[in-house]
Amino acid sequence: MKVLKFGGTSVGSPERMKRLLDIIDPAERQIVVLSAVSGTTNSLAEIGQAYLAGDKNKAAALIGALKVKYESFIGELFGKEEYLDQGREVIDYHFLLLNSLSNDLFTTIEEKLVLAQGELISTTLYYVYLKEIGVPSVLLPALDFMKIDEDNEPMVDYITEHLTPLLDKHPENKLFITQGYICRNSFGEIDNLRRGGSDYTASLIGAGINSEEVQIWTDIDGMHNNDPRIVKGTQPIAQLSFDEAAELAYFGAKILHPQSVFPAQKYKIPVRLLNTMDPHAPGTLITDTSEKDRIKSIAAKDGITAIKIQSSRMLLAHGFLRRVFEVFERYRTSIDMITTSEVAVSLTIDDTTYIEEIIAELLGFGSVDIDKNQTIICVVGDFGAEKHGYAARVLEAVKHIPLRMISYGGSDHNMSLLIKTKDKTEILRSLHNRLF
Ligand code: ASP
Ligand code: MG
Repeated sequence: MKVLKFGGTSVGSPERMKRLLDIIDPAERQIVVLSAVSGTTNSLAEIGQAYLAGDKNKAAALIGALKVKYESFIGELFGKEEYLDQGREVIDYHFLLLNSLSNDLFTTIEEKLVLAQGELISTTLYYVYLKEIGVPSVLLPALDFMKIDEDNEPMVDYITEHLTPLLDKHPENKLFITQGYICRNSFGEIDNLRRGGSDYTASLIGAGINSEEVQIWTDIDGMHNNDPRIVKGTQPIAQLSFDEAAELAYFGAKILHPQSVFPAQKYKIPVRLLNTMDPHAPGTLITDTSEKDRIKSIAAKDGITAIKIQSSRMLLAHGFLRRVFEVFERYRTSIDMITTSEVAVSLTIDDTTYIEEIIAELLGFGSVDIDKNQTIICVVGDFGAEKHGYAARVLEAVKHIPLRMISYGGSDHNMSLLIKTKDKTEILRSLHNRLF
């Protein structure tokens, strides 16, 4: 059974929603995972923020504006009065719920309930639409089988145990529709897999049912070998290994939720990135294997802060790095890049929520320097320890640009450079021209 996931833009208008059947073959047994209609989760996040801030008037105004959008959405989606009525019931139900929250104590629990409405609405509307045009389908409630544990880690075994019987209940049905992004947490409350989490849902389902393939349908023809917004003439990458895809998904290429690679990798489920606008384009296939001897792609991640800690006490000392890392651990701040010398260590973070506190503690070790507005440039390819020449090619291509940090050898398929964000466009273009 295949799993097909369609993102917010792929269901972003009634027209687009109808066109999904150009891609979905209702004769094939499959699970279709849908995101919320594009823009909806952002609006729901604003509604949640307004409620959390106690601003009920603002929440009501935002809810009203969103409802107006859905009223026109269903007006175009449905042709027959009977189904338009059903669509209206769906909308009324979910917006009544959103409005009713103004009477309650509003905590992050209610906020997650708000965030869940987008996927609940999109899938139900699509289900009703399929009914109208006479395509049989089953609406599977993701909240019945998607679960995260106490550490917010998704539980694949739980999915297998709870989803399989739901599928078995409908042996005659081919098409199953379910919500991306939403799940229950260890308290049984409604929760989510973080923004962009519908990809993660699809790969978790793929792992849970041992799917033959997970297809992620977006609006670009696969992962490109450089940022197409910045560099001209980028190409989709035909094939990537899970490791390479994970590096790229994390560093920049917004097309795939980074964590979604891991369940697919663990359970060896091929993932295909495909383009709703151009369904016959080959896209990117992510599997266990890696093409040898190639530099595959370049990605960039902005908003990076570099921290340098210099201390003569580091010289010949053991336990120094551990104490440095513990500071970051205490503030739940993850480190992306690290380079060391005998008397100093530089590392990067992207979450600066606790930077003041972190610096205050680091000053206990020695001097601390901060560089903001940095960008990590990540070059992905086959850089195994027995390879030579690749690092030289990368450095040759960037010799006119100041480099703050270089990281090589951390894995077999990544070389990272830290630069000033203002140099990003130039470095991406220069690498592209010289490496591809
Ligand atoms: N609707 C959610 C979001 O916008 C999840 C997703 O689209 O993947 O983040
Ligand atoms: Mg997405």
